[in-house]
Amino acid sequence: MNRPRKVHVKSFGCQMNVYDSHRMADTLAPAGYTETAEPREADLVILNTCHIREKAVEKVYSEIGRIRVLKEEAASEGRDMMIAVAGCVAQAEGAEIMHRARAVDLIVGSQNYHRLPELVARAQEGERIVDTEFPVEDKFDALAAPSRDVIRHRGISAFVTVQEGCDKFCTFCVVPYTRGAEVSRPVEKIAAEVARLAQAGVREVTLIGQNVNAYHGADADGAPATLGKLMRRLADVPGILRLRYTTSHPRDMSDDLIAAHRELPALMPYVHLPVQSGSDRILGLMNRRHTRADYLDVIARLRAARPDVALTSDFIVGFPGESEADFRDTLSLVDEAGFCGAFTFAYSPRPGTPAADLEDQVPEAEKSERLQRLQAAITANQRAFNASFVGKTVEILLEKPGRLAGQLVGRTPYSQTVQVMAPPELIGNVMPVAVNEMGSNTLFGTLERAGTPALAEAGA
Ligand code: SAM
Ligand code: SF4
Repeated sequence: MNRPRKVHVKSFGCQMNVYDSHRMADTLAPAGYTETAEPREADLVILNTCHIREKAVEKVYSEIGRIRVLKEEAASEGRDMMIAVAGCVAQAEGAEIMHRARAVDLIVGSQNYHRLPELVARAQEGERIVDTEFPVEDKFDALAAPSRDVIRHRGISAFVTVQEGCDKFCTFCVVPYTRGAEVSRPVEKIAAEVARLAQAGVREVTLIGQNVNAYHGADADGAPATLGKLMRRLADVPGILRLRYTTSHPRDMSDDLIAAHRELPALMPYVHLPVQSGSDRILGLMNRRHTRADYLDVIARLRAARPDVALTSDFIVGFPGESEADFRDTLSLVDEAGFCGAFTFAYSPRPGTPAADLEDQVPEAEKSERLQRLQAAITANQRAFNASFVGKTVEILLEKPGRLAGQLVGRTPYSQTVQVMAPPELIGNVMPVAVNEMGSNTLFGTLERAGTPALAEAGA
């Protein structure tokens, strides 16, 4: 029996990293590690990093600095604390981190988490390890599953990675270099993971991948399955009430996936579909391999299948060579497409990507001015979208306790949060809620009826 130890995993960046962080903790559990939210009391601190923008890397170095202080405090009390750096910064700059930050004991790349117990044991012996190879074995096969208690503790809404990596090579992006080529997990392995989550009380699953709709995992017969087919399989898993997916690429929005939106009540009418720019010239320079018209056509096909579908997007402003006219094309696309929200980013040159070497980089002041104008346009759209729900009754999946006593927080099908006074036994159920007020980031509502939940607990 291993001595009980504590691990603190801090995630930076996207939901894929949050999922990876959970799986790292799961994998260390058989080696005697339990999770702690408090880095000070940890024997092992893992920083699960993101490399997508420049500031993210700087954040990692300053975080290492903060943890180093805790490590020194622990040492003065006669305790060892190890620091591991994982994720995309580790993948891209592992050796550099080891060189710059002497307090770091272990670097583990994004494809190697399943080796953590062995790597940690070696690091404990004093070896400083950098493991960033892309291994031949499938890390998902080797990762330990979470226990029922751990699943319950994480809540009724879970992420499941179904696809990793990217073959698209947008000229601004590091993902194809840090996460490698596109790989999809087989349908039945995903279905087994989702069934296990549902049996422990999970009611909503978000399938994640850098290009989730490029999913092409093997089905039970070994033939490649589409994301639409995977959704049809998962919609049959007892206990699963809601399915979502993110992040999609416009080129991979197939007719089959759009048809799944028409057919499957469990597939939520919400799609996060990054467009990056409204200017065809900039989309070409970005190597996005779609035009503004292609993008609008995808939206039209989605809306024909599911008229209430809500769309969000990602935008980059200040890509090299972006003129005021190009930027105005982006602003006009926001209104034409009718987004109900978006993530907006100022272009950040990433070493090793083609766009970083383009001339005509946009000055920072201009980027931030455009960012503010774009954010204002998106906020206006978002507020109008949320306002359109006041006075309506919406089906809410109640997720967790709210900030006030007696309050629960839930989500609409369109992923808006709603605060409602409701008893905690209703967590995990879909209930009709009358929306009566709108805040800056949330809606407020009243339970329509306190009656029977939409679904009896399945095995929970
Ligand atoms: N695969 C998704 C797609 O096709 O758009 C997005 C993945 S990326 C992890 C998330 C977002 O980060 C991108 O959509 C983009 O808006 C932003 N991003 C990526 N590289 C960036 C860069 N160099 N500068 C600013 N934003 C960037
Ligand atoms: Fe990056 Fe483009 Fe791949 Fe998205 S599609 S992960 S933005 S290279």
